[in-house]
Amino acid sequence: MAVDATQPYDDQNVFAKILRGEIPCRKVFEDEWTLAFHDINPQSPTHILVIPKGAYVSWDDFSARASDAEITGFVRAVGHVARAAGLVAPGYRLLANTGTNSHQEVPHLHVHVFAGRQLGPLLARVD
Ligand code: AMP
Repeated sequence: MAVDATQPYDDQNVFAKILRGEIPCRKVFEDEWTLAFHDINPQSPTHILVIPKGAYVSWDDFSARASDAEITGFVRAVGHVARAAGLVAPGYRLLANTGTNSHQEVPHLHVHVFAGRQLGPLLARVD
């Protein structure tokens, strides 16, 4: 079910449980601000999720409330993850679904990193 990005943070969401070590993930990268892991249901040959360690529902919440250090750390980590995976030359796509119309499913900010094939048009046609 899609997330209402205006709701308060729910610390029982699946990514909060991954951050607490309550459920496993296939970790790609971790530092003070950020955790990156492989998506459990990949939509491209490379499909990595990058999440901040802080409790933020969405890109909206993060961009409004996170500290400058958290934002800098997170944005640099997204770039580092893509670079370290060798994705700059072939190219990659970042996506951060936010709220109902985007079909955001997990109410903890995550940036998808898609790569490994031609990714096609930006949006699927829905009409
Ligand atoms: P979104 O629709 O943007 O909220 O994307 C949520 C993503 O989280 C989907 O691509 C799911 O496949 C992925 N996902 C859900 N649970 C897990 C999990 N336990 N480990 C890794 N990825 C997950």
